[in-house]
Amino acid sequence: MSDWSIEEAEKLYGVSRWGGGYFEIGENGNVQVTPVPSDNSIRIDFKAVIDEIREEGVQFPVVVRFHDVLRSQVANLNTTFRSVIAEAEYQGKYQGVYPVKVNQMREVVEEIVDAGAPFNYGLEAGSKAELITVLAMNINEDSLTVLNGYKDEEFMRLALLGRKLGRKIVVVVEKYSELILLVRIAKELGIDPIIGVRSKMTVKGRGKWESSGGERAKFGLTIAEIIKTARYLKEQGLSHCLKLLHFHIGSQLTDIRAVKEAMTEGARIYAELHKMGFELEYVDVGGGLGIDYDGSNSTNESSRNYSMQEYVADVVYGMKEVCDLEGVPHPTLVSESGRAITAHHSCVITDVVGEIRSNSAEIDTSVKAGEHLFVKNIRELVDTFDQQMNMQEVFNDASQYKEQAVDAFKLRVLTLEELGKIETLYWQLMTRLKAHYADAEYVPEDLQELDYSLSSQYLCNFSVFQSAADTWAIDQLLPVVPLTRMNEKPDVNCSLVDITCDSDGKIDQFTIGREITDILPMHKLHKDEPYYIGLFLTGAYQDVMGDMHNLFGRLNEVHIFSYDDDPQDFYIEEVVKGSSVEDVLSIMQYNPRAMASDVKRLIDRHVASGNMNPREGVRWTDFYENCLSGYTYLKTQS
Ligand SMILES: *Cc1c(COP(=O)(O)O)cnc(C)c1O
Repeated sequence: MSDWSIEEAEKLYGVSRWGGGYFEIGENGNVQVTPVPSDNSIRIDFKAVIDEIREEGVQFPVVVRFHDVLRSQVANLNTTFRSVIAEAEYQGKYQGVYPVKVNQMREVVEEIVDAGAPFNYGLEAGSKAELITVLAMNINEDSLTVLNGYKDEEFMRLALLGRKLGRKIVVVVEKYSELILLVRIAKELGIDPIIGVRSKMTVKGRGKWESSGGERAKFGLTIAEIIKTARYLKEQGLSHCLKLLHFHIGSQLTDIRAVKEAMTEGARIYAELHKMGFELEYVDVGGGLGIDYDGSNSTNESSRNYSMQEYVADVVYGMKEVCDLEGVPHPTLVSESGRAITAHHSCVITDVVGEIRSNSAEIDTSVKAGEHLFVKNIRELVDTFDQQMNMQEVFNDASQYKEQAVDAFKLRVLTLEELGKIETLYWQLMTRLKAHYADAEYVPEDLQELDYSLSSQYLCNFSVFQSAADTWAIDQLLPVVPLTRMNEKPDVNCSLVDITCDSDGKIDQFTIGREITDILPMHKLHKDEPYYIGLFLTGAYQDVMGDMHNLFGRLNEVHIFSYDDDPQDFYIEEVVKGSSVEDVLSIMQYNPRAMASDVKRLIDRHVASGNMNPREGVRWTDFYENCLSGYTYLKTQS
């Protein structure tokens, strides 16, 4: 194992490249978490976390939340804005809001609100249910609550209730008709609203969410509509209510240039409105601060070419420059970063429950009297194979023999046994060809596919549709790595498949360095020793977007806090049970209790007819009921 080291593992899996300062490979070969970047002595070993989870009797797969990471990210964003603002001598403040759609879990929102309290960090909602949530969740009167998304009359009344309760609730107008509605209800209730306008920007974001900006954007007002809005409010004597300009050019902005362009355009609109007599107090730059999922620090779709520090600097300096040129005051800056706050704090731990090896089944290929010439031909190729041969030719010949064999089989010329032999011999040859090119710089195109066709699939106890919806829906790349054994050379090339009955339920996009690959080296599975892998950066969107494909429900969750008095530096603060089979069936309108009694009645009937003895009947009844109340995923530990 001298040709392997932790450094090699780091090169391969890039843990610290995408880890954002929170994850790295420890000397012992296990992935470790440093949840508080300012205190590197707090170090949580994933192996210890796994052991503790097993001890608690929690079944895998499990979502692990590191609450300290969440808190650290909230502090990070706020202190970065504060320090850049001070350095730039920017006259306004920063008052961010967390968009709850990115992860609405109560524990997540509560932790963010708590960690954000010293910064008057607020919340953003984009639907009525989210508004109802944020009204109850953040009661700090100095923080902002920003309301985006399409709104109806009830929505407006709820927002005005918040105003009545002394909260700084900003209703962002996405559509001109919303303005008319809001003004009518505000007058009826005699409550002054705080109004924002969302600008449909001409600048487009960069990355997958490019169409959130531009003239065909779904949300926002055109320049003409913004002017109309301002004038309408003036006519209604409500000019003083227009307080915020909002724009959001897309999530996961891959290229920092998009941020710079948006700031220039947004700042110009703010300055012009100011000069027209509309003295807005806030400019809200939306979300979009990206995450480096693939660790390449590039404009790849799953990456971004800038840091949080650079992003904040572009927002602050961009605004300052335009304001100073135009001679207007520096507004309070608001941002709605969601992904950047939550992505790192959670991951999914799952165990590999088996290996699906391609073409590994072999049958006896020895010579048999009267066998067909095709079998003889390909056997000869195997027997005479040596390293000096022209490999392309070997490949061509073998492929041709195999194709001919299939045709011959269909024409009833070859027997099933003979076809099986040819297949076996063919894959033996391919394995040798692959070995021949193992360390080669140049591999002929036809043979490049061999790595993939000869790779294994590791069957993982989870559902892509529940835990990593974006890898399926939009080809989002998420880091997946073994959690232990990084000090051993991984020598099985594989892709990952889940336990759903859907062939899309797989992960076959990984990054090695800057390259996207379809297979990733993993370690050989040992008998009777579980192999755990982690799916990382799932805290933003993935956590809450999962669906119920194949009736796999929500995962068991453990919430972890660091605790430096503990020798292992952490404790499990809470276990939240995932969905049981009953839970998911109820959502689909079944009645689990009735089902259990139906099955019991069937069993009773068999007992009555003497088909089953009574003791057996009781056992089967209990078993069915236990499964009904059990976890939906595979049970891999007793
Ligand atoms: C989704 C959304 C956000 C969050 O974007 P991130 O890229 O996750 O930071 C912010 N504001 C609005 C209006 C959104 O729709």
